[in-house]
Amino acid sequence: MSTKKLDLDLIPPSEWLPFDKKPILIAGPCSAESEDQMLKTARGIKQHFDKFIFRAGIWKPRTRPGMFEGIGVIGLDWMKRVKEETGAMLATEVANPMHIEKALKAGIDVLWIGARTTANPFSVTELANALKGVDVPVLVKNPAYPDLQLWIGALERINRAGIKKMATIHRGFHSYEVTMYRNQPQWELALELKTMCPELPMICDPSHICGNTHLTAYVAQKAMDLHYDGLIIETHNDPLRALSDARQQITPDRLFEIISNLIIRSDVVEENKSKLQELREKINLVDEDLLQTLASRMLLSQEIGEWKRDNNVIVFQVSRWEEILKKVLDLGETMGLNRDFVKALYVQIHDESIRAQVEVMNLAKKKEQSVSSPA
Ligand code: PEP
Ligand code: MN
Repeated sequence: MSTKKLDLDLIPPSEWLPFDKKPILIAGPCSAESEDQMLKTARGIKQHFDKFIFRAGIWKPRTRPGMFEGIGVIGLDWMKRVKEETGAMLATEVANPMHIEKALKAGIDVLWIGARTTANPFSVTELANALKGVDVPVLVKNPAYPDLQLWIGALERINRAGIKKMATIHRGFHSYEVTMYRNQPQWELALELKTMCPELPMICDPSHICGNTHLTAYVAQKAMDLHYDGLIIETHNDPLRALSDARQQITPDRLFEIISNLIIRSDVVEENKSKLQELREKINLVDEDLLQTLASRMLLSQEIGEWKRDNNVIVFQVSRWEEILKKVLDLGETMGLNRDFVKALYVQIHDESIRAQVEVMNLAKKKEQSVSSPA
């Protein structure tokens, strides 16, 4: 890891945010959809949290045309209502100078730059120029692809425009690999940035990292364990009906459950932490990696199952199994792993893989039967 310093001229968040303990909490829907949705969501969050920043996307950078591209300026009026009722600070995404102008006019307290915009230095420069002389906090999301320099460049451009109230949001990186995440966290990149500029607050976005809701709590806890300062979590009063990112939004009640279960560890080095404790924490991290690797392997296995189903190929092939086993036994041995142990482990993994592939086949058969059976 490079230890080069990143010099940003920053005002500490304690001077511009109302939070007296971790995490800084940003919550609200992916997109503003209706006044009713905004107020119901905000009231739901307010029931559990006295202090939070209410997020909502007014202009949505969607990958393909025809998807919901945001409600536009009318959503800013709904945000104002949220502030009047709940006292929450407001945050929205800006991607061009017109967005900045409209958002500031509407009294939005915090602006954020989205992952697709951070990736484009022309756009970031335009935003920086529009922000000159304006005193508003700006959060910069990491660029959509894993380029630390591009991320740093955007932070520098905004900071050099005179914006000193800044934080960054780690929302993961696009990848074509099939994994359990929508966007790969690549924690090491965020940690490198944190090392280069420890005074820059780091906020984690488990919603866009996960792309689903079953990993949100795990990623939020991981961010706390890595001493992030805050969380931005997409929250919707009726997530399944959301017009964007429906699969990753959670209800205000679930948000409360996740936040109240977080373990916030002190970032002071505990002097009397025993060697055993330290080793156990390391083992826990390795276990997480192991499970993630297993989950990624299972996803691939299911994809293979789909291919076999579509090409009418049997699930179990002796030669392939023998090939895998030989390879892992030899490789494991070079890594100092006992052959019997590796064999027993792989028998289990292979069994589970076959079970998952058979399930994929059976599901297809059931569908065929229900289509071909007479009504
Ligand atoms: C969002 O926060 O809804 C969003 C569009 O995020 P990102 O820029 O990280 O994709
Ligand atoms: Mn979203």
